[in-house]
This record gives sequence, C-alpha cells and structure tokens, in this order.
Amino acid sequence: MKGSFPTERLTKIETPFYYYDTDVLRETLRTIRTQAGRHEAFEVHYAIKANANPKLLRTISEAGLGADCVSGGEIQAALKAGFPPHKIVYAGVGKSDWEINLGLDNDIFCFNVESIPELEVINDLAGIKGKTARVCFRINPDVGAHTHANITTGLAENKFGIAMSDMEDVIERACGMKHVEFIGLHFHIGSQILDMGDFEALCNRINELQEQLERHHIQVNNINVGGGLGVSYAHPNREPIPDFKSYFETYARKLKLRNGQRLHFELGRAVVAQCGSLITRVLYVKQGTAKQFAIVDAGMTDLIRPALYQAFHKIENLSSEEPCETYDVVGPICESSDVFAKAVDLNRCKRGDLVAIRSAGAYGEIMASQYNCRNLPKGYVKEEI
Ligand SMILES: *Cc1c(COP(=O)(O)O)cnc(C)c1O
Repeated sequence: MKGSFPTERLTKIETPFYYYDTDVLRETLRTIRTQAGRHEAFEVHYAIKANANPKLLRTISEAGLGADCVSGGEIQAALKAGFPPHKIVYAGVGKSDWEINLGLDNDIFCFNVESIPELEVINDLAGIKGKTARVCFRINPDVGAHTHANITTGLAENKFGIAMSDMEDVIERACGMKHVEFIGLHFHIGSQILDMGDFEALCNRINELQEQLERHHIQVNNINVGGGLGVSYAHPNREPIPDFKSYFETYARKLKLRNGQRLHFELGRAVVAQCGSLITRVLYVKQGTAKQFAIVDAGMTDLIRPALYQAFHKIENLSSEEPCETYDVVGPICESSDVFAKAVDLNRCKRGDLVAIRSAGAYGEIMASQYNCRNLPKGYVKEEI
C-alpha cells in the first residue's frame, strides 16, 4: 500500500523537496491533545529541533503545545511562531551567554541546567538584569533505552546532565543563590523508543529520586521527562499516528506525582515524523554487476538519517504501478554512505519518476547541509501546492 500523494501537482515542483501532509500533522496533534488531556497534570512541549519549518511550528503552537528549545536560535524560532514564553523550556549542555540572556529577556518558563558552572553563569547573568531565572536540573538517570547507540542520552557515559550522586549538592547550591529559583527535575533518555518498558524504567528511577529528595525535605513542582516516543518507520501508511495512548498511560500509571506537581513532556519525532516525506526524482537507473541502482536527485545532504544512523525509511515510487524490482536507492553525493536503502522493492523505476522517502518529517529538513555546494531543500505544506 502506498501513501496518498497529490502526485500530479508534486510533479510540477523542482526536486528534491520536503512535502508535509498537514492533515496527518493535525490528526497527530488532536491525538496528543486527547490523550494527554486525560491527565490533568500533563503539559506537552514540542521539541523544536526535530523540525523548525515555520509553517509547521505555527500549526503546532496553535494546537496549544509548549516549546522545548536547545539553542537561542530555536528560542527565536519558537517566539516567532507564537509559542508563549511561559511555555518555553530551554535545555542544552553548552548554553552561551547571549542564549541565556535571550531566555532571561523573554522570561522563558525554565532553563534546564546541565552543570554547576552553567548554573553559576545563569545566576550571574540574571543578577545583572535584576531577574530570577527558573531552573530545573537535568539529571542523568543512567537508564538505557533500546534504541540506536547514537541516540541514547540517559546513560552515565553520555555527556548530558548531572550525575544522580551530585543531585542534592547541586540543588543545595541553587537554593543558596539569589538569582535562580530551583523548580524541578528534567530527564531525557533517548529517541525512537518503542518499548514502554524503557519509559517505565525512567519512572521507577524518578520515583526513587523523589523519595530520596523528600528525606531531605526537598519538594519539586515540576518533573520533565523529555521526549523519545518512537514512530513506525516500517508502516507509515498503516500506523501514521504514534502510540500516544500507551505512552501517556505509562507515565500516568508508573510515575508517582505529588500533589500539585506538573509533568512535562518534550516530544519531537512523534509529533512531526509521519507528516513529512522527502520527494525526489529518479535521475538514472544503473545496472551494476551484482545489483541495480536507482540514482535519485536527493542525497544525504537533504536527509542524513540513513547515512548517520543506518535509519530505515520506507520508499515508494509515486509514478509507477509496474511490477516491483529490487534497487539500491542512492543519492548523488560523493560519499559511499550516501545510500537511502539497499535491496528494496519498488515499482519499476525509470528516469523522471517521482519517489517519496517516507516518515522524514523529523530530523530531516532541519539537518540538511550544503555539502557539495548543494541547495538546501525547500519544504512545502499540502495547502500551498
Ligand atoms: C531531542 C530532545 C527531545 C526530543 O526527542 P524526540 O526523540 O524527538 O522526542 C526532547 N528533549 C530533549 C532534551 C532533547 O534533547
């Protein structure tokens, strides 16, 4: 089964480009609102780094989500798209002074702090402005996630966060500072997680940490569990909407929230992955000695995930209903890793056919580069083509 595409109209646009099916995005946002809305204390933020296309950001902010930013540029993009400052959280291991000042000037909800030196700088910069910065500490929970090694973030060996053993010291330090207000704990264990057991493990760890803090009479008002919910790259047509129900229910069942505590989520991939496709054209079909190649005009500069993480994306030939043949689908970039898929079955390809690389809405357009002096791909939403 193929996805439904306005192929006729897509043919008129210069390839390669991203095509965003805003119906899928809206349905995804509706599901998030319904499923998270069952739990009074839940607040969902969108992780801007997954895709900062202004048209998508606008739709997401209008749906009422907050924004999770990892740079000053993302804070600017979030503000421009209408995310209210009191719903913006800002994480990152290396915040520079101008980025912290930008957050302070706009009174964002919270800085997710990853080290004591960073906490000191935030306290100093807030002091200069006569402000108080709200801070959460990003704790490294040492919880593994069953996903690709490059996208686990919550293990002791990863660069992110503050070690659990340092948590109380850091909180004590913050409480002694004049220009920071300690308001909660932040976690993020990784991405493309489909095993709810991984999120359960995080809940169990947070439950332990909360008990430990309470023994020291420390109460926090906010728990932020990051993002990480995965999507079905294999079946974007059958499973266009991620399993938000199980995801939120897992947290509702396993995490022991205290009275008045807010639980924050930062979802990126699960919000935008399935609405986006990279549309490309077949340039040549080349018979190799052992296989045949469909050489397309998109490359790893447009979508780097297969080259970077050996990620799988479903590929469909939108222009052909002829019998399937087996192809390696490769791009034009001068790198051997510029391969979208090996040995995939596609309806027989010929020069000029339009091909969709599916589930490319997250970490696609936003990670594009100009290597080989290529143009950045444009992004179009359904309404404008
Ligand atoms: C990347 C990131 C997210 C979003 O991750 P997804 O897997 O796209 O949901 C959330 N929080 C933090 C801190 C991140 O770095």
